[in-house]
This record gives sequence, C-alpha cells and structure tokens, in this order.
Amino acid sequence: MPGGGNFLGSSLNRHAGASSIMSRLMYIGGDWVKANTGALTPVYDPSRGEVVDQVPHGTKEDVDKAVDAARTAFPGWSRLPPGDRANMLLRVADMLAQRSSDFANLESLNSGKSIKQTTDYDVPYTIDNIRYLAGASRTLEGKAMAEYVADGTSAVRREPIGVVGVITPWNYPLMMVAWRAFPALVMGNTVVVKPASYTPLTTLELATLIEKAGVPKGVFNVVTGPGGEAGEALARHRNVDMIAFTGSTEVGRRLSELGAGNVKKVSLELGGKAPFIVFEDANLEAAAEGAVVGGLVNNGQDCANATRFYVHASILEEYETMLVDKLRKVQVGDPLSPKTDMGPLVSEAQRERVEGYIQKGLREGGRLLFGGERPKIEGHDGGYFLNPTAIFTENHASSIVQEEIFGPVFTILYFEDYDEVINKSNEVVYGLGSSVWTRDVTKAMNAVKDLRFGTVWVNDHVPVPSEMPWAGYKQSGHGASLSAYSLEEFTYIKHAYFDLTGKARKSWYYQVYGQKDSQ
Ligand code: NAP
Repeated sequence: MPGGGNFLGSSLNRHAGASSIMSRLMYIGGDWVKANTGALTPVYDPSRGEVVDQVPHGTKEDVDKAVDAARTAFPGWSRLPPGDRANMLLRVADMLAQRSSDFANLESLNSGKSIKQTTDYDVPYTIDNIRYLAGASRTLEGKAMAEYVADGTSAVRREPIGVVGVITPWNYPLMMVAWRAFPALVMGNTVVVKPASYTPLTTLELATLIEKAGVPKGVFNVVTGPGGEAGEALARHRNVDMIAFTGSTEVGRRLSELGAGNVKKVSLELGGKAPFIVFEDANLEAAAEGAVVGGLVNNGQDCANATRFYVHASILEEYETMLVDKLRKVQVGDPLSPKTDMGPLVSEAQRERVEGYIQKGLREGGRLLFGGERPKIEGHDGGYFLNPTAIFTENHASSIVQEEIFGPVFTILYFEDYDEVINKSNEVVYGLGSSVWTRDVTKAMNAVKDLRFGTVWVNDHVPVPSEMPWAGYKQSGHGASLSAYSLEEFTYIKHAYFDLTGKARKSWYYQVYGQKDSQ
C-alpha cells in the first residue's frame, strides 16, 4: 500500500471501535511494508487508555532489510552536493508546516501532550530545527588549507559516517527525529529510525512527507518495534556505522556496549535532573512562574524539566506559598482541549513509576506540600493522569533528589550560601539542564561557570534555539543536538595532505634512507 503510513484520519477517531482500528506499515527502502512476522503492536491514547492504532512489530529481519536499503542508498546520497540534500529536507519542512495541525493533533493524541504545546511548540519548533539544520549544512567550511610542514600543504575534510541508526524516546517523538536524523541526513548519511514503541505515529507520518519530498529510496527508513528486539538489532548491526540515541541513561549504557562489536560511534543524549536555584535577590514572581513551566512542560516528562528547587532559606516560605498557589491553578485534563495545561503521563507504567517515587520521597523524610493524587477527568476514566506534586525535603540523598523521576514532581530544598548550593546542584550523576534565578550579574556569571551542566539558563528555564547546542555532561551523555556542532557530530574528520615539491626525494626522507645532505 503506497503511502500506507498515512492513516491520520482514522487515528484521530478516538472513539472508533476496535474493529475500525487501522494498522500501519513501516517505511523501508522507499516501500511501505509489514513486519517480517506480520505481527502488530497496539498504540494507545494515554488520555483514555484505549488502543487507537497498530504498528508493525519489527524485529531483527526487518532491521536487516532497512540497514541493507540504507547501505545501498549511501553512495548516491552522500555524493549529492549539500544544497541538493538541504532543498529536499526544506520541502519536508514546508509540507510539515502545511499539515502542522494534523501533526499537532496526532502528537497530542499519541503522547498526551497538551494541544497548546504541540501546536505552538513541538511542531513549529521541529520545522524551525529542520530549516536551520538544512540551511546550516551549506555553511560549513574547513579551516584554511595551510603549509604545516616544509614540503606539503594540508586540508581538513568532513565526510559522512555512513549508515546511522537513530533510536528515539517517547517524550518528543517528532522533534527527536528532527534533532537526530535530520543532521545525519543533511551531512550525507542514510538513516534507520527506530521510534519509541509508545509513540511511533508522527515518525511514520513524517516518513510520508519524506517520500513526497523526493528523498531517494533507502535514505530514510523507519522500523517500528520493541527496543529489546529492533533497537538491539540496530545497535549490534555490523553494517551500522553510528547510533544516535536519545533516551534513558540505562539504555544508553547498554547501547555503548552493543555498539562496541564494530566500534561504532555512539552519540548519547540521556537523562537529566535539573536544579533550579532561587537566590535571595531573585524576582520571586518570575521564579515561581518559571518553575511551573520548567517543571511541567511536556507534562513533567522532559529531560530538562526543573526538578530540584533550591531556594534560599530566607525566602523559602514565601516562595513555597507562591509556587503552590500557581500549581493549584494548573488545568489537568483532555490533551486535545485548548484549555488544558497538562495532559496525562504517557503510560500506566510511567504513572506508577512516578507515584512510586512520590511514596519513596515521603518515606525518605519528605513532606507533601501539594498534589500526589490522580485527578478524575470526565470522559477519561482510563487515562493516566496525575496531579502536579510538590514535596519539601531536607534529605539530599533521597531518591527524589538524586534520580530522574520523569513526572510532574517538584522537590523543594533550601540552601544558605552559594558554595553549598553549587556543590549540591553538581552532586548528581546527571548534567543536562540547570537554571539560576538572581538579579546579581556577578553571581549569575559565576554560577554559569561553576554548574557542571550542558545548559545553564539565567532567569528562565527551557529555551533552546535551533542555533544553540543541546548537550550533556556526565551521565547525561555526550555529543550535541542542534547548532552547527550537531552537524559535525555526524561526520568523520579527514586530513588531506598534498606534496608541494613534485620531487622524488623529499627533505625528510633521509630519516628512512640516505643522508640528510643528500637531498
Ligand atoms: P528509553 O526507555 O531509554 O527508550 C528510548 C528508546 O530506546 C526507545 O525507542 C526504546 O524502545 C529504545 N530501547 C529501549 N531498550 C533498548 C535496548 N535494549 N536496545 C535498543 N533500544 C532500546 O527512554 P524513554 O523512556 O523512551 O525516554 C525517556 C528518557 O529519555 C528520559 O531518561 C529522558 O531524560 C531521556 N531524554 C533525553 C533527552 C536529551 O536530549 N538528553 C531528550 C529526550 C528524552 P521502546 O520504546 O520499544 O522501549
């Protein structure tokens, strides 16, 4: 069925009975195909806990086919001038812009994100990411060609790596394809994408645009299937040259091991545990507003979510009151309603995991300030909703301070001086996002320097323009997404050396035979 990934109309019919649930196909070598076994995996609407779609249950055999297709397409694609590749991907961005509301609906339906967020952030930002990456790929230049030794001149080339396996998480299904597959593509690599099993729909839908944009067969492939099968097969594959992974630290560690077989490059964007530091001189209203957004963006399932709120002891009480007042006003509900601020978590397993952390945090000495319960949302009895939750704790070793919860949980702590708060902020295994709230420029500049995180925001929390790098320290991974740095990530570096003398005997050959003065 050509273009068979395109079942958008049916997917949006959430009240369809099981008999009318459509099954999708995956995109391999320019064809829309079933899994080798014919098996299907259900896809859920997390706001109701109902099956809305089915996708192929891809396994090793399907990955093998996709890698073969990507390998075959590589020579042709990699030899195209950058402008030709960029123009095709710009067409994808244009088509995505034309269908932005379809994509926003589908992403909200499948992931539970609020329609406000997918309409005004996920989809337009993804379009901007693609446009930036396509344009920036044409601006890359080498360093000057220069004579570093007497007899020759040297130049640096950047060349594509080959076949890249892209494994994405469920929290930004569409955007993470833009962040990881698109820089690979514009730099001349071919890709096999394995989307998260909870949220494969917008990735398959994006493949229909890639097909329409005229991207040659085999350049972009999608294999849906479980991480433990399709994902592992991709990571182990001897004909895959690089894995670009965004997901949990635990799986990232596993992929580093699996990739070692053929020493493939493994680029890892992993978990986070962002500190949010409120100094005594901060604009408290701004710091409270910023906390709600920093903590709840993406329903609290963002690797950069503000999670550890270090508040100066002198303003702790006032700040807690302000924050809880604002959390009380957050509208939890149907993700497709424009009034909703926060939708459900992505799955029942995720909700139970977050609730487990709340209970553990309380057992480990925390005091509940707000939330903790499951709200009743009319018409959404089976949905995986959880109210925003705030817990105060003095126990810095507590799991809610040290571990990634990935849910709408605010852990409030206090501090008394600068060194203490910087040390505590750095005292976790993660190093992705962080923010400081202060009116004192010197303090802000010092914090930017002292915090061991890939991003430090000052008086805000969340913005990452397409032109700037998004990167981790420590167990948050390595490598960069977005910016020109992400383009380099998907290249090998090559030294080209040219003899300038035209002579048979170069000045340094005496080191191997002959005499120095015999030149
Ligand atoms: P995850 O459990 O690590 O899964 C991510 C992807 O890896 C999914 O496609 C998953 O497939 C696949 N996978 C799982 N086990 C695998 C294995 N053994 N071999 C190969 N692939 C495997 O992460 P998630 O729960 O989807 O996403 C949340 C995590 O992503 C959080 O830790 C968050 O901080 C992180 N994240 C980081 C960034 C960043 O920029 N640093 C951005 C977004 C998210 P299945 O879905 O089939 O299990």
